[in-house]
Amino acid sequence: MTVTEPHATAAAPTPPLAARATAVGGSPVRDILAVTARPEVINFAGGLPAPELFDAEGIAAAYAAVLAELPAQALQYATTEGEPTLRTALAERNTARGLVTDPDDLIVTTGSQQGLSLLATALIEPGDTVLVEDPCYLAALQVFAFAGARVVPVPCDDHGIDPDALEQLVVAEQPKLLYTVPTFQNPTGRTLPAARRAAVAAVAARRGVWIVEDDPYGELRFEGERVPWIATYPGAEDRTVLLSTFSKVMAPGLRLGWLRAPAALRRACAVAKQAADLHTPTVNQLAAARYLADRDLDAHVASVASAYRSRRDAMLAGLAAALPEGSTWNRPEGGMFLWARLPAGHDTTELLKSVVKHDVAYVPGAPFYAGVADPRTLRLCFVTQTPEEIGEGLRRLGAALS
Ligand code: PMP
Repeated sequence: MTVTEPHATAAAPTPPLAARATAVGGSPVRDILAVTARPEVINFAGGLPAPELFDAEGIAAAYAAVLAELPAQALQYATTEGEPTLRTALAERNTARGLVTDPDDLIVTTGSQQGLSLLATALIEPGDTVLVEDPCYLAALQVFAFAGARVVPVPCDDHGIDPDALEQLVVAEQPKLLYTVPTFQNPTGRTLPAARRAAVAAVAARRGVWIVEDDPYGELRFEGERVPWIATYPGAEDRTVLLSTFSKVMAPGLRLGWLRAPAALRRACAVAKQAADLHTPTVNQLAAARYLADRDLDAHVASVASAYRSRRDAMLAGLAAALPEGSTWNRPEGGMFLWARLPAGHDTTELLKSVVKHDVAYVPGAPFYAGVADPRTLRLCFVTQTPEEIGEGLRRLGAALS
């Protein structure tokens, strides 16, 4: 048999990308951020914490201390599950918030985003069904799409998931997991009330489904009573994964999150993490542990929350004049986002093109929907700018929409 050698000049094409790499699109929010990166744009689109409120001095001191005192450890490889000092401090924080947690219940993750990826690797077979809120955090939809999941939206109202509709869907669809951001949700800012949390936990226990409870924003409460994690309600104990992060309370650039999960699932996540990145950067973990030991993170969060409350109020004060008559919006008690809906006939994706010409931006609501999108919705981040800048941004928005 003769093998025909290809001509040296006619190089063969490289094999194609995996189907999933072409099927999953980039994040529309990141695309909008690229378009609106001009410094003159007042950007309500990103989900960026206010950078001037980072405790840069305290974080720098924590890094300096661990690099001076523990350089061999801080710069070395570490265990996949995470640094014991950090896990101990994080377990104490969970326990203080009503969820008894042992350091061994936790894995430190490279942001809570990695927690989502690890869970998808550990739990989802292509074709498995995942239930999400409608609308839902975008990068979670990306993770589930990469895993080949069938994503089914759970009917939601202004308070989040409808537990009765959830139960019907669990029976009909036999999902592997429910993904939820119950407190100050991204994108809507809404919070699931305690009674519904209890009902969601009961549905999961009765029908058999994992709950992935993602809580990056819960600590940023400006008013009202803290609502306990779903993980604390009867039935949820052995089937809830709680994802947490320092991104919104310390700084997102640290890329530090943690997940709390039942033992067998946690072990599967740890193996997935070995394959993903071996471990989260040691120096970041030790610096965070040092920060927690030397500083008062809760006091810092309280001061950030108080600044964010003024920013939310500045946005609420200017919205009526900025949005067309007949628009509606909510008033979140914390977090970073609020959700608005323009009157019939408006399409926020179309409108954005002329809005950015006025040097202001929001994110259209449509990409956040796993089900039928409502083209009249939009997400506004109220924390990145000062109250004065928010006022100016809303004046520009008003001019663009009028
Ligand atoms: N979950 C939700 C709901 C988020 O809004 C974000 C950040 N935008 C993340 C997870 C990821 O956060 P990180 O990886 O920075 O912890």
